[in-house]
Amino acid sequence: MTTVAVKDITEGKLERIKTTCAYCGVGCGIVANVDRVTGEIGIEGDQEHPANFGRLCSKGSALGETLALDQRALHPTVDKLRVSWDHALDFTASKLSKIIETYGADAVMFYVSGQLLTEDYYVANKLMKGFIGSNNIDSNSRLCMSSAVAGYLRAFGSDTVPTCYEDIESSDLFIIVGSNMAWCHPVLFQRLKAAKEQDGKKVVVIDPRQTDSCAIADYHLAIKPGTDAALFNGLLAYLDREGFSDASYLGNCDGVDAALNAVQAFDSIKKVADYCEISEGLIERFFEDFAKTRKTVSFYSMGVNQSSSGTDKVNALINCHLFTGKIGYSGAGPFSITGQPNAMGGREVGALANLLASHLSLSSKDDRKLLQKYWQTEKTISPHVGVKAAEAAKAMQSGKIKAIWIMATNPVVSLPEADEFAKGLAMCELVIVSDCSKQSDTAQYANVFFPAQGWSEKSGTVTNSERRISRQRRLLEPAGEAKADWWIMKELAQRLGYEGFDYVRESDIFQEHARLSGFENDGARSFDISGLADISQRQYDDLAPIQWPIFAREDQTDKSSARFFGGQLEAVRFYHNNKKARLIPIQPRLPQSKKSRRFPLVLNTGRIRDQWHTMTRTGMSPRLNQHLAEPFALVHPEDLKRYDINADQLMTVRSNRETITVRAVSSEGQRLGEVFVPMHWNNSFSSNARVGKLIAANVCPVSSQPEFKYTPIAVAPVKISHSFCLLASIDAWQQYSSLIDRAKQSSEQIYWAQARQAGAYECLMELDIKEQASIWLEPFLQRLKQSINEDSSSHLSFTKVSLANDTLRFAVFSHDELVMVGLFGKHDSLPKTSWLREQFGRKIEFSQRAAILAAQPSEGVEDVGQIVCACFTVGEKTLQKVIEDGCQTADAVGERLKAGTNCGSCIPHINKLIAAAG
Ligand code: SF4
Repeated sequence: MTTVAVKDITEGKLERIKTTCAYCGVGCGIVANVDRVTGEIGIEGDQEHPANFGRLCSKGSALGETLALDQRALHPTVDKLRVSWDHALDFTASKLSKIIETYGADAVMFYVSGQLLTEDYYVANKLMKGFIGSNNIDSNSRLCMSSAVAGYLRAFGSDTVPTCYEDIESSDLFIIVGSNMAWCHPVLFQRLKAAKEQDGKKVVVIDPRQTDSCAIADYHLAIKPGTDAALFNGLLAYLDREGFSDASYLGNCDGVDAALNAVQAFDSIKKVADYCEISEGLIERFFEDFAKTRKTVSFYSMGVNQSSSGTDKVNALINCHLFTGKIGYSGAGPFSITGQPNAMGGREVGALANLLASHLSLSSKDDRKLLQKYWQTEKTISPHVGVKAAEAAKAMQSGKIKAIWIMATNPVVSLPEADEFAKGLAMCELVIVSDCSKQSDTAQYANVFFPAQGWSEKSGTVTNSERRISRQRRLLEPAGEAKADWWIMKELAQRLGYEGFDYVRESDIFQEHARLSGFENDGARSFDISGLADISQRQYDDLAPIQWPIFAREDQTDKSSARFFGGQLEAVRFYHNNKKARLIPIQPRLPQSKKSRRFPLVLNTGRIRDQWHTMTRTGMSPRLNQHLAEPFALVHPEDLKRYDINADQLMTVRSNRETITVRAVSSEGQRLGEVFVPMHWNNSFSSNARVGKLIAANVCPVSSQPEFKYTPIAVAPVKISHSFCLLASIDAWQQYSSLIDRAKQSSEQIYWAQARQAGAYECLMELDIKEQASIWLEPFLQRLKQSINEDSSSHLSFTKVSLANDTLRFAVFSHDELVMVGLFGKHDSLPKTSWLREQFGRKIEFSQRAAILAAQPSEGVEDVGQIVCACFTVGEKTLQKVIEDGCQTADAVGERLKAGTNCGSCIPHINKLIAAAG
């Protein structure tokens, strides 16, 4: 075991602490430069971390901007009233006890999150399964990777990722299936791009959408949504037909004949091409490349997993790797990538309703007994699978679940049928929410709210997609009264009278978790980190990133490997009882919901480059908000035409459940008839853009993962007459929040979207005003002026100009600083605000006030345009200028402006500007 000096340099007041990024499953190492005086944190990539070798994407780089306290939850509350921790915990324990006593353990559910650290996750799972006595604990990781887990379990007999990041460099063919890797796992994408540039490997993208990941693809298979399993069945049939099986490796596999029988329906290139709606030439090229390239990695993510046949898609892909033996050696294997920072940690502790801790099996009586013994619990661990994420709404509404504890996640935004979940919460006897943010839409339903520590305050471990455990270290003291999630649970467990929760620090929990992994594990479980069971506090503090397995027994040490299922053929062991892998016969199924005349289009959802989940943290970063500041739908230009929607116009997206309103964006990368809407916007950032409420809770019957990628919808234009854009400093936003809220709730309001910008909040309201338009604004202005006049301590001055054509502008200044500015006018008449945003917190001379009202810089002041490179805050106009000056490649632009030289996610955008400049 290696350790790392975590505070290796102290330069003046700056302390350098190594930690891990809070967002995606790449698990990048960070060096945080903590200013002990100001509490500010500078972020840089950790050059020594094997996940990123110093690189960070825009989200990771902006972590220091997400620490402001104005949206932080700071105190426990019961029924919205601030209470002490003791009161909140006593109250919760008493309510929970009564509910368990009256209705039984299965009346309680925990809904947890891939944002939790492994130590938190371990305690949650132990408390629920081992002591409350129910398996009703599910994680939001159910929504992103449970099909991958189920696929691995069916194929390998255990949830074991066979590959590692080094396989990116060593592969010759890299297939990206159902993943916009360029935006969702940017650091790995940049690593792949660099490797491709160096050694010329082939990259193939399989995705209905043409995303930025296609920028480095040799070719792109834009298959019909939901046809992935048919494509891989066709590939298996081809591999068999053309004699590409690896007979030796198949000696380690069961189920070959059954799998081959199942692919007969796709026994020709033509059949596959017709089914997947792409050309025979492309299919043939792909099949041939796969067949003839020994070192092939298939990298897959939500596009495969989030499907009503997600597990089948995973196994159809794994079948091809097993059949050809492309697994277990450098540069080969099926590689599922996790979406969340600690989704893998959740899998290790068994935090899904159908799993047990430490890769023990819920369906095995012996495993359940083993765990009972280890936890020394008097409860019998239930053999029954608990309530899963997508079942929770019904379980609450039917009264089966009476109490739910939601930790570090925002299901009122992120779950399918999100409004049904909200209704269920309203019907529960007890809703407990632990979160670090007040902006969680779920928190409004809480009877009890526990303020949890945020990323910079937490301490523990996370495991990334390649099974690498890294320390997340405390950088700052907890804000307000925030506590660690594990501490909250152990306090509650003790109040419920359970023994075995006397943890003092997180390392106590980690040791218990590590010891369990080796407990009566004679090699039957791949997850083994028993080599870390006896580490000292100092070793835990200094733990360097380390990949499992990490064996305690010396005779096993040489078996430690970055990869599974390789080496000497006779020694290859899988985790089914007979130690063999299984090929699974797959009958491809199309998505569960069908298009109709009423709902003729298909909705796909996913992430964007610079936001994370429901934006409760990334939404606080001005840099990240500048990339795409409004909720939007990507629509093919012909579909826009067909439905009479203009690019940039507001549009509704309607399913048979609900309707949302977003901005239309024309995109030729969409297939005809398919629309993409991001998953991120919650009610704090836009009036009506929670995409989860459109989506049915159709799930994969094996993994129970919901089908987020296919919802039949209809779209329509939204007519508006006027727009009102308001920018206010952070203080003014708080001070005038009720006034602003009243404007947002007016009956003429059709839509609003707001974002935090540098030194200010910005809100755009779109309105439908029938007559006397500027009068709509008068009540707002009168109240604003009244507030200013009433505030005798302020030095505020108010300026208003009314121009022709319903155009009205006003601004509020305090001495020589801008406090608020409002732009009102006919739809499409408002100026861009990118320059205006930058004026908050700066000295504004009296002579410049006219420029503020014009929303345009006076001569000599640069307007950089919409920010393209979030890492170095480089705007579109600046980029266009250097392109005109002769920078004709992204490299040349990077040399001049640094744009694109950090995470590289903006390079496709820069390339588009270069192409547009001709
Ligand atoms: Fe964080 Fe970006 Fe790395 Fe993901 S790729 S871990 S979001 S820095």
